Amino acid sequence: MKRGLIVQKYGGSSVADVVKIQSVAKRVMKARADGYDVVVVVSALGDTTDDLISLALQITDSPADRELDMLISTGEQVSCALLAMAIHELGGDAISFTGAQVGIMTDNSFTKARIIDINARRIEEALKKRKIVIVAGFQGVDLNNNITTLGRGGSNLTAVALAKVLNAEICEMNTDVEGVFTADPRIVKDARKINRISYEEMFELASLGAQVLQPRSIEFAMKFSIPIHVRSSYSNKKGTIISKEVRAMEDIVVSGVTINKNEAKVTICDVPDKPGIAAKIFREIARQDINVDMIVQNVSRTGATDVSFTVPSGDLIKTIKTAKDISKMIGAGEITFDKDIAKISVVGIGMRSHSGIAAKMFEALAENGINIGMISTSEIKISCVVNAKHGQEAVRAIHSKFNLAKKGKRWTK
Ligand code: ASP
Ligand code: MG
Repeated sequence: MKRGLIVQKYGGSSVADVVKIQSVAKRVMKARADGYDVVVVVSALGDTTDDLISLALQITDSPADRELDMLISTGEQVSCALLAMAIHELGGDAISFTGAQVGIMTDNSFTKARIIDINARRIEEALKKRKIVIVAGFQGVDLNNNITTLGRGGSNLTAVALAKVLNAEICEMNTDVEGVFTADPRIVKDARKINRISYEEMFELASLGAQVLQPRSIEFAMKFSIPIHVRSSYSNKKGTIISKEVRAMEDIVVSGVTINKNEAKVTICDVPDKPGIAAKIFREIARQDINVDMIVQNVSRTGATDVSFTVPSGDLIKTIKTAKDISKMIGAGEITFDKDIAKISVVGIGMRSHSGIAAKMFEALAENGINIGMISTSEIKISCVVNAKHGQEAVRAIHSKFNLAKKGKRWTK
């Protein structure tokens, strides 16, 4: 039966060695035999990208971003060529391309480039000749022909963007897990695979610590309504479909719980309680390109207040230095920090129309004697900062409080 076009992305763990590449080749051939036109996007073998970065760091602490992209883009070129050969061995007709060869044009913000255009002519010609097209993920080229990369996990973005320009029926993300789960199954034994989830929830889950998909790729898929199927590279089972919100999803109040241990908390003590001070603090931090997440300002009784905020752990040293400078500038007190924190979040679109979710989450923590350090909420998520040593326990407590393990019984008020 003749079908439409499918984009299949395979993550690094799915192409980690020769045997795995051979089994991906079989899967691709199967999709072809099922009648699909197939465009495959591959990540670099296993931990190649990390290895390349650590090579660079052995040479210099601050590699030039352009050269870094030149270096780390090589990983994907290896995997796409090997996969093409593996398909040839099975008697299939495949051709591999780099990002530049298939016209993935980006801006010139090296290491986190944005796609500005894709000229898919080369892919379309190959498809017309009935070839299986394999594209190196994660990479593009700027207007001056410099190689760029799309940020860590960027092969997801390559896949979604190609699905858009080629009008694919679906964009499959083949990975080492069976789909998106209600919590990390390594932490919560009875975490359940979610069958269907909205873009918005998935974007939040990914941003808050679920590692399956790059948040940027979900944003892109949402903008153009490209359905995504996250599934295991090692089985034929259905995974998780990410799509537009449908009515039934609204009944589910909480979809998942995440943990993020990659943030640190910084407090500026005795900040003068006057108009314009918060603006000064966070303008200065932004100037250092530090991405602040949660912010808490205490009430002031004495005319001074403490301001706490979280930043990515990697930016902690830079942040402390900046905070010290700011404190001097505005006449505030000492700077304290805490590296051992975990941010636990619950996400669900049903929160828009149901109340009491925050209370329930706090109860779960209280019942387990876990103290909450910071809280923040938005339309479809609630996050609490707890001591890192209680992080996993907190995830389990909340997962069970909301009954997330039971199908169809995800907590509705
Ligand atoms: N190889 C790149 C990374 O590890 C891109 C990707 O895997 O999507 O970030
Ligand atoms: Mg990778």
